[in-house]
Amino acid sequence: MSQGLITAGIDIGSTTSKAVLWMDDHLGPCVIGPSTTNPRGTAHECYERVLALAGISAAEVGYIVGTGYGRTKVTFANENVSEISAHGRGAQKLLPSARTIIDIGGQDTKVILLDGRGQIVEYVMNDKCAAGTGRFLDFIARTLGIEVDKLPALHMDGEYRPVRLSSMCSVFIESEVINLINDEVPLPSVVQGLHQSVAVRVAALVKRVGLTEDLVVTGGVAKNAGIIDALERSLGIKMKALAEFADPQVVGGLGAAVIAREIYLKRGNKSTDPV
Ligand code: ADP
Repeated sequence: MSQGLITAGIDIGSTTSKAVLWMDDHLGPCVIGPSTTNPRGTAHECYERVLALAGISAAEVGYIVGTGYGRTKVTFANENVSEISAHGRGAQKLLPSARTIIDIGGQDTKVILLDGRGQIVEYVMNDKCAAGTGRFLDFIARTLGIEVDKLPALHMDGEYRPVRLSSMCSVFIESEVINLINDEVPLPSVVQGLHQSVAVRVAALVKRVGLTEDLVVTGGVAKNAGIIDALERSLGIKMKALAEFADPQVVGGLGAAVIAREIYLKRGNKSTDPV
C-alpha cells in the first residue's frame, strides 16, 4: 500500500517534542510542544495531536520511528533512529543538494556531512558546553527580559556592530552581557555579539568536518535569522534556507517519518510490533 501510505516521526528533544506525519511521500501536519519530565506521556500527547490535525486514526499509520534525546521513550514506535540519521535524512529529503547540515537544538549542536547520495560521511557534536546552544540563547534572552523569538528583530535593527564577548562560559557571558547593558551599549549590538559568539563556536565545529556546499541549518535555533546571518558572516558563505520547505525545527521528526516510510516499503509492508 505504498500509495496513500502514512508514516510518523516522533522526535523527543531535550527542549521540545515534535510529531510529524509523512503522507503519500509528502509532508503532512506537524506538532511542536515542550518536552517534559514525562517523555512517554509527551510523545503520546504529540502523536494524538498530530493524528487529530490530520483527521486520521492510529490504525491508518503504517510505521512509526522515534528519534531524539528521548527516542527510547516513544514506546509505541516500531523502532528508533539517532538524531544524526533523522536530521541528515530530513534535510536531504527537503533539499537534495544539501551536503553539510548544522543542527542547533536546545542542548547540543551537530554538524553532519552527507555524500551525494545522502549517506552520512561524518559528523561532529558539541554536547559538552552550553554556550552555542538554544538553551544558552533562551537563558541570555531571559536575562535581557525578552522572548527568544525577539532576538532576530533586534539583531537586524540597524548597522552590524557586534560587541565582542570574550568569555568562554555561558555564566560568565551572562555577567558580561549585564555589564554591557549597564554601560548603555545598544541592545542590537549586544544581541549581534551574542549571535556572533554562538556562530564562532558553530563555525569551529563545521571546520572539523570540512565545509561542503550546499549548507543548511536545522533545529529550533535555525528559526533565528540573526544566528543565520552571524553564521554566514563567520563561514563566509550563503546558507540554503530550509524554511521555504518546512519549519526547520521539525526536520528531525520529518527525517524519522521518511525513514519509517523507507523501512516499511523495504520490508514489503510488514509492520513489526511496537517496541
Ligand atoms: P531539541 O530538539 O534539542 O529539543 P529544538 O531543535 O526544538 O531543540 O530547539 C529548541 C531551541 O530553539 C530553543 O532553545 C530556542 O532557543 C530555539 N527557538 C525555538 N523557536 C524559536 C524562534 N521562533 N526564534 C528563535 N529561536 C527559537
